[in-house]
Amino acid sequence: MYQRGDFLYEGKAKKLYKVQSFDDLIWVEFKDSLTAFNAEKKGQFSDKGLINSKISHYIFNYLTEQNIKTHLVELVEPQVWVTKKLDMIPLEVVVRNQVAGSLAKKFHLPKGKKLKKPLVEFYYKSDELQDPFVSAEQIECLDLYSNLEILSDLKSLGLKVNESLKSFFKKIDLDLIDFKLEFGCNDKGEIVLADEISPDSCRLWDSKSGDNLDKDRFRYDQGKVEESYKEVLNRIERVYA
Ligand code: ADP
Ligand code: UDP
Repeated sequence: MYQRGDFLYEGKAKKLYKVQSFDDLIWVEFKDSLTAFNAEKKGQFSDKGLINSKISHYIFNYLTEQNIKTHLVELVEPQVWVTKKLDMIPLEVVVRNQVAGSLAKKFHLPKGKKLKKPLVEFYYKSDELQDPFVSAEQIECLDLYSNLEILSDLKSLGLKVNESLKSFFKKIDLDLIDFKLEFGCNDKGEIVLADEISPDSCRLWDSKSGDNLDKDRFRYDQGKVEESYKEVLNRIERVYA
């Protein structure tokens, strides 16, 4: 049985600790807090951490079945994961199927417009800079990340995860509009899917009504935040438990 070790880091949505006697693992606790707009807006609801942990756990197990390597080792408590400790790649990999969020704003496009093909974008992970968009050229010329061969792997992994997730959500009548992934390297130099996949990091729209069941409800004060996260978990449990 794994035991929580020394505190490592507190982020916006999770707390990280060492795992006693296992230097290659970390202990990840999902928090009840919600943040948006680079943490300018803060909120929370009870069981949010628990709900996101469960949703993300179903998704990571599903992706493992689809031969995608993830950092998940074990769900040690409903709200706590033990994961592989990775050397994190400082990029957010965003994959989009339909226009929403920053893409709608940037190009004045209507929300929901279908893209000709899935779009993969990179954002540089930096709280100070508010996670700016970066091109592959910028990553190379500004020397933001040395291992450039990784970029094409990140793109193909993003597209593969997208195909798996689209069919995962389609079965529960949700359209996957866009989402964010994070990856790290393990000690063999392999790229491994890390962090979480939940309504915090995906846009999910009901296939019939078009209503969104994701963090935009919190970002834009649409109400029913807690109910929407619970609804996503309930739909997943009806089909995948
Ligand atoms: P943030 O740091 O953006 O506020 P979180 O609260 O979700 O986000 O904190 C989780 C942190 O742990 C993130 O910085 C994420 O990059 C990092 N992380 C996720 N998975 C792993 C892993 N397997 N190994 C090391 N770090 C990880
Ligand atoms: N996203 C995320 N974390 C971030 C930025 C974006 O999880 O720091 C997710 C977001 O929830 C959405 C997708 O990535 O599903 C695309 O986000 P977008 O660029 O539209 O930014 P937003 O306007 O949501 O900040």
